[in-house]
Amino acid sequence: MNIIVIGSGLSGLTAAALMAKNGYSVSLFEQHEKIGGVTATIEKDGYRWDWGQMIVPDLGEEESGWKILKELEILDEIEIVKGYRENFYPDFEIRKPPEYSGVYWRKNYFKEIFPEDSKGLDKYYKIYDKIHDIASLSNKSGILAKLKLIFKFLPIMGKKNWSAKELMDYCFSNEKLQAVYTAILADYVASPEEFPGLIIPIINAENQYDERVPLQYGNHEKRSSWHFVKGGYGEIVNALANVIRDYGGNIITKTAIQNIHVEDNKVKSVKTNKGEIIKADIVIASGGARELFLDLIGQEFLPEEFIENHVKNIFTTESVFMVHLGVDYDPSVHQNNAALCYYYFTYDIDASIKECQEKIYHEGKDGLLIYIPSKHSPKMAPEGHHAVTVYTIAPNDPKNGNWEDNKEEWAEKLLDLAEERVPGLREHEQTRLILTPQDFKKRTYLKHHAFGGAVPHLKKSPPPHKTPIDGLWFVGAQSAVFGGVVGAMTSADYVVKQIHAKRGLKGTEKKFQTFSK
Ligand SMILES: Cc1cc2nc3c(=O)[nH]c(=O)nc-3n(C[C@H](O)[C@H](O)[C@H](O)COP(=O)(O)OP(=O)(O)OC[C@H]3O[C@@H](n4cnc5c(N)ncnc54)[C@H](O)[C@@H]3O)c2cc1C
Repeated sequence: MNIIVIGSGLSGLTAAALMAKNGYSVSLFEQHEKIGGVTATIEKDGYRWDWGQMIVPDLGEEESGWKILKELEILDEIEIVKGYRENFYPDFEIRKPPEYSGVYWRKNYFKEIFPEDSKGLDKYYKIYDKIHDIASLSNKSGILAKLKLIFKFLPIMGKKNWSAKELMDYCFSNEKLQAVYTAILADYVASPEEFPGLIIPIINAENQYDERVPLQYGNHEKRSSWHFVKGGYGEIVNALANVIRDYGGNIITKTAIQNIHVEDNKVKSVKTNKGEIIKADIVIASGGARELFLDLIGQEFLPEEFIENHVKNIFTTESVFMVHLGVDYDPSVHQNNAALCYYYFTYDIDASIKECQEKIYHEGKDGLLIYIPSKHSPKMAPEGHHAVTVYTIAPNDPKNGNWEDNKEEWAEKLLDLAEERVPGLREHEQTRLILTPQDFKKRTYLKHHAFGGAVPHLKKSPPPHKTPIDGLWFVGAQSAVFGGVVGAMTSADYVVKQIHAKRGLKGTEKKFQTFSK
């Protein structure tokens, strides 16, 4: 049985590794010369940076990402370290207290600065705890978990179709406090009016702001953990690639799949950019939804409703503009020693999102983040030096200029703003690497780079993993998941399990049974 995997990001690599370990004949095709997609760690002049990934959920013990690494027997190759982020707003900061002061320290802090919303904060955190319990229970099997889930969901059922704006208006009157919880929507370029309200607590997990917040407290279900990956995400890429090779799979780089041939609604073969035609029984494709279904397949092979609702109408993020620096000092002294800080320069998140949707690049004035991976991974920079990444959200094709002509000037503007918070970046600069949305497009083979993939939306949903074509599965950041490092991996794990189930292999004990090729 020939399995073709398209793309060597974490979704494609995970799918290929799981399939190869299960004894299938797997060939993974990557258009770029290097594997890893946006998780291929970059190296220059002795410094290492990721393409932008920072902190990830679900890699902690017994969590979804951890389980996949365990299945693949590569847990001991990946070192993780608990992570947190700090957020700075124009006139207040969310920084973890020197002495740990309980699960709800942020709530108490906000009550001090927004006393008018004290009751609203209590309301929000009741919803917060229910939503996190529901998220945890929905990953559990068994009748008790299902009953608990219903019990938790009933009181908030009336809010299930609320937008983020409705949730914010229900809880808070102060727009600055609303901005605290909706600021992250700027990353998704999703207006609070279109983003599902009940996802707000998930993307504002309290332990993301303080790694000392326990995962288990009170009568609540266990929460997801947040980690940095030591040495960068390329470590996961390499470990997965080794599994594929160890189990006899092929990884073919510098080769794009340009066509998937379908007959009688079933995949038959793929064609590469070199003109090679390769027989395929199953194709597991990552990458862009539009690129896969419109270009590689062709809409004439798919139901109109599927194309209209899930492909043409897919709601994805925009891109990022990024400056990587190698510096010969420790810039984290200016950000409370934190590796990761988000700096918001506006409370009007909605206006910022609308500007980006209209393809206007804000040149850093709305906000940026500074990430110093060498804080937790000293080997990412020469001794005594640091690797620093400064970046912000940016439209793919800005109305007010173009990336190639403006990148140097926009890098300086971004660093001007970054240095207002973290002085000395350019004075101590040893090396620099600028990445524009154009670079991301080339890396990902997308016409429209979407750094966060498909975004949860009240009215739009991305294509599901199981496509209408027999033998074709869709994984990765633009498939029916929220994206993210572990999201990409779990989408692949899900698909592999579905393929097993389809072949009559249900249940974990049969999971690693080897099939005839
Ligand atoms: C700047 C940035 C910051 C991020 N921050 C975080 C974070 O902090 N936490 C988190 O959890 N997630 C983060 N993410 C998201 C996460 O990194 C991605 O969702 C995930 O890694 C996507 O994996 P993927 O396999 O779907 O796609 P990709 O990594 O994009 O891989 C797809 C691969 O497929 C190849 N390909 C596509 N089409 C073809 C074709 N036709 N033929 C051959 N090859 C093809 C591409 O070249 C590419 O290598 C971030 C992403 C970015 C870009």
